[in-house]
Amino acid sequence: MMNAEVTNVVVKGGKIVGVKAKTKKGKLQVNADLVVGADGRASIVRQKAGLEVQEYGAPIDILWFRISRKKGDPANSLGRFQKGVIMVMLNRGKYWQCGYVIPKGNLKKVKAAGLPVLLKSIERLAPFLNDREGKIKEWDDVKLLTVKVDRLKKWYREGLVCIGDSAHAMSPVGGVGINLAIQDAVAAANVIVPAFSKGNVDIDDLRKIQKRREFPTKVIQKMQLFLQEKFLGKIVSGKGEAKLPLILRVMLKVPFLKNLPPRLIAFGVRPERVDVKVFPKGIGPK
Ligand SMILES: Cc1cc2nc3c(=O)[nH]c(=O)nc-3n(C[C@H](O)[C@H](O)[C@H](O)COP(=O)(O)OP(=O)(O)OC[C@H]3O[C@@H](n4cnc5c(N)ncnc54)[C@H](O)[C@@H]3O)c2cc1C
Repeated sequence: MMNAEVTNVVVKGGKIVGVKAKTKKGKLQVNADLVVGADGRASIVRQKAGLEVQEYGAPIDILWFRISRKKGDPANSLGRFQKGVIMVMLNRGKYWQCGYVIPKGNLKKVKAAGLPVLLKSIERLAPFLNDREGKIKEWDDVKLLTVKVDRLKKWYREGLVCIGDSAHAMSPVGGVGINLAIQDAVAAANVIVPAFSKGNVDIDDLRKIQKRREFPTKVIQKMQLFLQEKFLGKIVSGKGEAKLPLILRVMLKVPFLKNLPPRLIAFGVRPERVDVKVFPKGIGPK
């Protein structure tokens, strides 16, 4: 249901039996045998369900803005590093989606220095943007994306399971959060669909989802925390050199190791496939 904002969960006898939501037409209650919390990093579902969160912190935030693309610009998405600054540029056809990394909580400082200082820094990082007049006109064109890394201790309780960022908020490092969210969804479907086709989903089914997905999530989050601490955080706070950590530089040079980081990012530690064998006839992909 589009434009329906979940505001609370409905609890009956200790079990979650649905959600309350706000829509343009008014308030709504949706009853459900199972609620799947897939509402992202600021999940209201996990909060209202009282699931305990473990925070791992992040030394960075991201300034998110667009700059137009021109003929002759590089075709690939780019990561640009210099002492004290990092910017990631994603090719989105007509424009570059830029992520400019700043130390956590430093937006006020960046704003106080003024827009021209930010623009100069962007030009130094990507000189081919020098001809983009009025690329950022005002601070309203720059959005702050707060970075956080956390994970639920328990991803479920009776009647509810959380997946994706709702179960484990991912840092943008490596651009893997979406992969993990989809893998969680596939793993959850492989458990939930056959369980419902036999009757109902019980707490053991929900436990299986966390059991399958927790380890791959932990590994990727540990990798993100390592890169945030040892690399990104140090560069943007001016304490580190603008080069990759030694272990990554070595890995990327050794032929049989250099495919490992991209494989890890693309497929994760535990790749998932929809298990058509366990799906009832007519449900799921052919
Ligand atoms: C700055 C930044 C850059 C990132 N870049 C990348 C990247 O390049 N590649 C990558 O793979 N990952 C990236 N990530 C991580 C990635 O965004 C997340 O890990 C991923 O989007 C998680 O998917 P999700 O479906 O769990 O949650 P989301 O994508 O956040 O989706 C949650 C959905 O729930 C909806 N919702 C929220 N609250 C409610 C509510 N109360 N009621 C109803 N609906 C609600 C939201 O509107 C949204 O549609 C980045 C993260 C950050 C912070």
